[in-house]
Parts: sequence; C-alpha cells; structure tokens
Amino acid sequence: MPLYTCPTCAATYSSDTPRWRCDCGHYLHYTSPAMFTKADLANRNHTIWRYSEAYGIAPENIVSLGEGYTPLIEDRLFDQNVLLKMDQLCPTGSFKDRGTTVMLSKLKEWGLKSLIEDSSGNAGASVAAYAARAGIEANIYIPAYASAGKAAQIAMYGANLIRTPGTREDTAQAALAAAESEFYASHNWNPHFISGLKSLAYELAEQLSWEAPDWVVTPIGGGSLLLGLYLGWKDLVEAGYVAKMPRLAGVQAANCAPVYQAWVQGLDDVAPFPKQATAAEGIAINHPVKGKDLLEALRASNGTACTITEQEIWDMLPKLSKRGVYVEPTSAAAPAAIKQLKEKGLISASDKVIVELTGMGLKATDKYLEHYAFFS
Ligand SMILES: *Cc1c(COP(=O)(O)O)cnc(C)c1O
Ligand SMILES: [Zn+2]
Repeated sequence: MPLYTCPTCAATYSSDTPRWRCDCGHYLHYTSPAMFTKADLANRNHTIWRYSEAYGIAPENIVSLGEGYTPLIEDRLFDQNVLLKMDQLCPTGSFKDRGTTVMLSKLKEWGLKSLIEDSSGNAGASVAAYAARAGIEANIYIPAYASAGKAAQIAMYGANLIRTPGTREDTAQAALAAAESEFYASHNWNPHFISGLKSLAYELAEQLSWEAPDWVVTPIGGGSLLLGLYLGWKDLVEAGYVAKMPRLAGVQAANCAPVYQAWVQGLDDVAPFPKQATAAEGIAINHPVKGKDLLEALRASNGTACTITEQEIWDMLPKLSKRGVYVEPTSAAAPAAIKQLKEKGLISASDKVIVELTGMGLKATDKYLEHYAFFS
C-alpha cells in the first residue's frame, strides 16, 4: 500500500524502502495505516509507544528511551491559569525525542547503517542518542553558534559532529550536499518525525480526560511540533475521541518570523525572512520547509501566529525558573506570548490553555552565565 504521497505532484510511494522526499523534490506526507483504540491504552506503558498503531512501525523495530508521557502542571502566567506541558523532561532534554524515536525506528526497519542530520542542536542531540541506541552511525551538522551544551551532548552520544560556519541555512546546505551518499534523516523533512509528534496531541487529550483544551501555545521553527499537534488532534477528532480541536497559537521570534509574516499578510506559502540574531536558536529557521502546511494548520484550527521580542525572552526565563521551571531560551517563546494573546482578547480568563515547554535549561548553561553574568 502506498503510504507516502506528494502534496504537489500527487506521486505516491511505498514506505517499505528508504526515502525522505518525492522525486520531484517536494516533501512527502505519510498516511498512518491505523489508529489506536482508547480501550487498548489501559495496559500499556507510559511512553509515546502506548499509541503505537498510529505510527505504523513493527514492534520489533521500536527504538525507545522511554520518551513521552511528560507531566502537565498547573501554573499562572500574566494572570492566566495555564497548564505547562513539561516536554523539556524528555530523555535528551527536548520534545524532539517524540519524533526521533519514530524516525529512528523506521530507519532501523529499513536496515540503514548510517545517517546525516542537520540541526541547531536539539534535533542533533536527539538523533545522536537514538542512533546510538539503534546502532546506526550518525553524522550531525550543527552551526558553530549552537550551545556548547548541545554540541557536547551530540559528541557524547558518539556521533560524528560537524560544526559549520555561517547561518542555520548554511548548515542545512552542507548536510544536503553530504546527503548525496548517505541517508538524510532530517527532522524537517522526514514524515515519520511528524508522526511521532502526533503523540503530543494524543497524550494531552488523555491527560485531560479526552477533552480538548481551548488553546495550545507552541513555538514554531521548522514547524514539526505544530504540524504534529495539528495532525494528532485531527486524528482524535476523526476517531471521535474528542469533540473538537483546540486552537493552535504558533509563536516565533520577532527577529526570525517567516510564518508570522505570511500569516498576517494572509498568504498561502511562507517566503524567506531576512533574519537577525535571536536567543531563540531552536526557532531560528528563516524559511521552513513545510510553510504551506503550517499556514493551513493554523487556519484549520482557527488559530493564530504571533512574535515575541528578545527582551520578552530574557524577561520570561527568570520568571519561569523562579517558579522552579528550568528551560532553554527558545522555550520562553510560548509562555511569553500569553501576555499578548490575552491583551488581544484571543485567550480569555476561563480558557483552558496549554503551554508547550520544549527544551531543558541545562543545555543553555553557557548562554545563561554569559547573559545574566552571575559570576562577574
Ligand atoms: C526544535 C525546537 C523548537 C521548534 O520546533 P519545530 O518543530 O522546529 O517548530 C522549539 N524549541 C526547541 C527547544 C527546539 O529544540
Ligand atoms: Zn512530488
């Protein structure tokens, strides 16, 4: 059964052999062959694999580090009750593990022995960890500006670390050039990565007793997180497990806001953004591959897009950490956005609001010592 389809040229492919894009050069969509049933869940482990039917991976190929089922804790931001989704607690310290566990399981199923990935750091660390677990050689390209903590983490997992000068896009180009000879396991391209991120919607629904919240607020970089959320909620609505989909709010750094720009201009696709430096390195992607799908997801969920400034990021981080919640700078984007979403009247006091926390603060030790100058 052909499970990959190209949204532009309508080509279809089997998912039995390795492939990361269409012959026409476009990214592919993956259609899952099945959906889990609620009754199945009672006896299953608390990882994203409790929803395994939805990913289309044979059980013997699962490469897992116990990812998912992260806590959902109550807090208050800008006088709004919110629920913080603690995905910074995933095995490698970012939500990327939800997607990586499925992508690497698929690579194992294909019998691949090595891969190439490019990343600002977290996807690289995640892919390095799961590749190590699967016995697959990982070649990870990261920009030279990425956090020292993330570079060290990638190297510690035993991956080959290639640090490239220039922008995040230069890093992607270097990886693509090398991908002529090895499999390009890019989280921004691979549809199985997004399959795994659907677990976030499934899990939230289960944690909220199968009642959709009013809003899920999340950062947007390459956009896998937002797309996974959207597709996951769509599955749940179609299966009749929840009555409605939450509204999705996507947050970008004002210094790198291609999706926001296309959103406010009412466009169907995302154009490259003249990027400036941002502390939110995890969302510093000036031309996301799946821009068109992202705009569609925002519209279909009756959602919105917004931006936060560098100052708002640096102001938000101590507010969270002084409540015991330690995340990296990029993860300040979603909580910081609550202020304007309230001011614009989009979020109201009685709304149930989920704030996705994406990455662990320990990864940013070098950046925090530098910015807040604790020892000087
Ligand atoms: C990758 C990443 C994001 C952005 O996720 P996308 O799926 O690329 O939109 C946000 N925060 C952190 C910490 C990340 O590592
Ligand atoms: Zn095509």
